[in-house]
Amino acid sequence: MLRAINAMQDAVVLANCIYEMKSSSHDDIKGALKDYKKQRYAHAKQQVESSNTAGKILYGQNWFEKFMRKAVLAWLPKSFEKSNLTKAGSYRPQASFIPQAPVRGTVPVLPQKPSKRYQEGLKRHQQEMKEEEGVKEEKVEQQAETQAF
Ligand SMILES: Cc1cc2nc3c(=O)[nH]c(=O)nc-3n(C[C@H](O)[C@H](O)[C@H](O)COP(=O)(O)OP(=O)(O)OC[C@H]3O[C@@H](n4cnc5c(N)ncnc54)[C@H](O)[C@@H]3O)c2cc1C
Repeated sequence: MLRAINAMQDAVVLANCIYEMKSSSHDDIKGALKDYKKQRYAHAKQQVESSNTAGKILYGQNWFEKFMRKAVLAWLPKSFEKSNLTKAGSYRPQASFIPQAPVRGTVPVLPQKPSKRYQEGLKRHQQEMKEEEGVKEEKVEQQAETQAF
């Protein structure tokens, strides 16, 4: 279940970890993969386990699995299904090296791990823009002064 989504989430988180690497040294690669495992392992494990359970419930052929199918499909309250879907839907990792997508819709989003490198780059860029603006304003003022003389 949701295997393609998990493949995409894997790719996004791995790309984020690679983006944070300071160099392509062995230690930095090891560090990035360690961070990737830290961020993804628990979620991926839970996804595999719940996929196994769902497979048994939906397609299982022994008496217990058949009973569970009936119980889940016929008797389980819709609110339980909704709360499970909300929990799964709130995990939406994003690429941290591009602007974040705005939060829309009704399902809450878990906080994203911010990228230090991206934030620093953004700050640098804003600073450069400010300085450029300052230089432009200075030039305009100088021009106005020379025209006044
Ligand atoms: C029959 C079937 C039905 C499925 N149905 C669904 C579904 O309905 N919903 C769902 O969510 N998921 C479904 N999945 C699962 C989903 O397709 C996979 O979970 C997902 O595609 C995994 O993505 P990935 O990028 O990790 O791997 P892949 O999509 O397998 O991509 C790996 C790529 O790497 C390439 N590659 C491998 N080794 C090398 C190498 N040494 N050098 C260069 N390239 C290499 C491969 O050729 C391939 O293009 C289905 C899978 C199958 C097999």
